[in-house]
Amino acid sequence: MPRNLWDNVDASEFRDDLAQRIYTSRLLGRDQALVLHGGGNTSVKTIGEDVFGHAVEILYVKASGHDLIDIEPEGFAPLRCVPTKQLAELAELQDSKMVNELSSYSLDASAPPASVEAILHAILPFKFVDHTHADAIVTLTNSVDGLLRIRKVFEESALIVPYVMPGFKLSRAVREMITGASLDGRIGMILMNHGVFSWGDTAKESYDRMISLVQMAEDYVKEQPLREASFEPPGQRAELCDIAELRREISRRAGEPVLLRTFDDDRSRRFVSRSDIEAVSQQGPATPDHVIRTKRLPMIGSDVDAYATEYARYFDENSTVGLEMLDPAPRVILDRRIGFAVSGKSSKDLRIVEEIYRHTMDIIENAEDRLGGYRALSANDLFDMEYWDLEQAKLKRAGKPRVFAGEVAMVTGSASGIGKACAKALLARGAAVVGVDISPHEALDEANSPFTADVTDHDQVRRVLDAAVRMHGGLDMLVLSAGIFPPTESLASMSIESWRRTMSLNLDSAFQLLSMAYPFLKQSPRGARVVVIGSKNVAAPGPGAAAYSVSKAALTQLTRVLALEWSGDSIRINTVHPNAVFDTGVWTDEKIAARAASYDMTPEQYRRNNLLGVEITSGDVGELVAEMCGPLFSKVHGAQIAIDGGNERTV
Ligand code: ZN
Repeated sequence: MPRNLWDNVDASEFRDDLAQRIYTSRLLGRDQALVLHGGGNTSVKTIGEDVFGHAVEILYVKASGHDLIDIEPEGFAPLRCVPTKQLAELAELQDSKMVNELSSYSLDASAPPASVEAILHAILPFKFVDHTHADAIVTLTNSVDGLLRIRKVFEESALIVPYVMPGFKLSRAVREMITGASLDGRIGMILMNHGVFSWGDTAKESYDRMISLVQMAEDYVKEQPLREASFEPPGQRAELCDIAELRREISRRAGEPVLLRTFDDDRSRRFVSRSDIEAVSQQGPATPDHVIRTKRLPMIGSDVDAYATEYARYFDENSTVGLEMLDPAPRVILDRRIGFAVSGKSSKDLRIVEEIYRHTMDIIENAEDRLGGYRALSANDLFDMEYWDLEQAKLKRAGKPRVFAGEVAMVTGSASGIGKACAKALLARGAAVVGVDISPHEALDEANSPFTADVTDHDQVRRVLDAAVRMHGGLDMLVLSAGIFPPTESLASMSIESWRRTMSLNLDSAFQLLSMAYPFLKQSPRGARVVVIGSKNVAAPGPGAAAYSVSKAALTQLTRVLALEWSGDSIRINTVHPNAVFDTGVWTDEKIAARAASYDMTPEQYRRNNLLGVEITSGDVGELVAEMCGPLFSKVHGAQIAIDGGNERTV
């Protein structure tokens, strides 16, 4: 149910026209039943001043690629209203020309490109104009006899516009409808198979009307009798390896690695188990601009090749000369064993596709179960949207994908020190990073999922791996950084318990995680990479650290064996030997001072006690580890690389 979120006190802080515009735009953005990621757009017409001090009518219209929920003044393009409006009088206007014209009407050369609906906003003779793709409205327009139902509900209150491709064509069509016609009594317009506009003299009036229009649609849907759907009995659930295999197949057809997120909630399970799932899900999205995120159709089942073949057929049937086919991999997967799943290049992409499709499930079910059936736009109309330059430009604005986009890394010991630095460096290169540490820690960003777990505990490691595969579809990179550096102890005074504690964390846990991760690593689309954090002590042990030195030496030997065993699976494994990394949890200023004193050095000298006389930071190690997972090191395997500023005992 759309809630009217208007609050007089909050609103009073937004004083001028643009500020009021921002306030209600954010209110719209807060309700996902009205607006999903990047969807919807709003505008206000106001009088401003140009550089000569002349009054000029300005249309502030949402810029493409901005979200309403947190929009700022910079999220609006300030266009000269008069020429923008005039564009609708042209008989034809190419898209690229339209974008160019609109940019040239901006009063700010650095403003972002205006929404593709800018002309439509300009020609509507109202100060405030709001546009959403509200679920309830598109449920009605995308149902059997949708137009009749829309007429029944909105005949009196709104203008009803048949589907026209958004952009210039839609602006022109609406201009024809409203020229010479009275809009008295109409509080907005319904765009068939697309969404709804509302308008008003004030931000509040336009917002209130949007809520009313959506409420009318919702009330209508609710009043219709419910026809109970039938469901298939639950079948066998997929294994984790099936998920990793499916991700590999999707990545192959996408031409690059992608993430795959699977869901196991009751709501999506119920949708996937509908007996009519094939019919109801194979029509198209609820509103055309979803097509660039979800593709036209979800994949039913897990036959990726069949899906890609079908996509190629759709492309051939609808494309015109000169178009190049986009990747034919599915974005939404509905499979009885796997459940509902989404794929994409980043955690953000996954979130957007998930959001869109969860709303699509509701829309389809309401249309199917209450309105006689769900009906989407034709394949041809959707194709035109999917391959529309102006829609593809929205995706391109995200920039070139980073080197590890679509890939998944797991880092142990990620709460602090070298592990945290590795997680940061991998995130900066676009990987989704699963962090594991016995200490609770916060996510570094949206692509980071921290887990609190003891890596020596089999069940806890299983739980984290399980979650990682369900969340991202597999595992491409593994960085083993968890370890302890126990206090100095001579062999004579070392207890077997102390020895075992070091072995358990530094060595046994690595063996366990490597063996448990192997089935997923070998499914990595690009070939997996493992980096193990060793130690200078392997080549140059010191007295008083028997357990530590032996554990790291054994760990290094383990990676050498795995380099031999795993090369056939295209898994690269290497060891990094850092030394004297003092910005980690192991070291405090007091400890460094004490150590330095025992060598007759100042702390500063001790920190730089290597051939180059440089300080080694955990950040340096993190960057090296990340690079070792990347293309620069693509032919390095079974190697041991020291990062220690040069050590006279090991060179
Ligand atoms: Zn729209």
